[in-house]
Amino acid sequence: MAVSLVRPAMLRPLRLSPTSLHRWRECPHAYWHAYIRKSPAEVVFNRPMERGGAIHNVLKACFDNLQAAGEFPGDLTALAAEYLPPYRYPDRETWREDVEWIARLATEYLGTIAAPQARARLLGLEWVCHFTHEEYPSFILTARADRVVRLPDGRVRVIEYKSGKPNTYDLVQIAALHLCVASTLRCDAQLVTVSTVFLRTNDEREWEFGPGIAEYRAWIIDIAHAIRLATPDATRFAPTPGPFCRTCPYVGLCPAAPDEFR
Ligand code: SF4
Repeated sequence: MAVSLVRPAMLRPLRLSPTSLHRWRECPHAYWHAYIRKSPAEVVFNRPMERGGAIHNVLKACFDNLQAAGEFPGDLTALAAEYLPPYRYPDRETWREDVEWIARLATEYLGTIAAPQARARLLGLEWVCHFTHEEYPSFILTARADRVVRLPDGRVRVIEYKSGKPNTYDLVQIAALHLCVASTLRCDAQLVTVSTVFLRTNDEREWEFGPGIAEYRAWIIDIAHAIRLATPDATRFAPTPGPFCRTCPYVGLCPAAPDEFR
């Protein structure tokens, strides 16, 4: 009896995150390098990224301390120095400047935490949460929420810190975070809001999707579908050059990279 050696293909659920969705939306070819081919990313010193990573950790440490000891830590400069890796910096002077910058930003922000916010019940810091889509195209969306609190009226607020320029956000990314938090808490998505806090200006923008969250969910499903259809054929992940090529870690591997960024 002839035995077929061909096994039915097992489709593993696609793994997505707010960052990978954003990457796809900016440039499918960069997505392919990052998440399918897993090409080595060119390591370039990216100052805003270093600052952003450190400030998240400093704020997390501050809120952890508030939970444990009832107050924020006293020496934010020491904390900033602890979380900002000096070896990634081209020189000590720039590193020191950024330590001061982070400490100042964190001090200013923590000084504005108003009483109602302090009364909110903390649900998580740097909290990893998931949204799973079981039907085709199956995918698991994973997000990390900077801070999640339950407000006295029962609603849930997700607070996202941004150290970059105000008004730089991608609503699909924010909706992805919203879906992950609602799904992990098993609560009505309409009870969740996302607040983006721009630390440089202390501007806070609150996003209430309401019934519109369904439209974003459908959008994310469409992206997952497009990725499923294109994988693994590199030619179906077209390069779409734009301003983001400036910081693209795959610029050296990309046939369409603009000359000025090579
Ligand atoms: S260099 Fe530009 S076009 Fe090429 S992969 Fe990167 S973002 Fe896409």
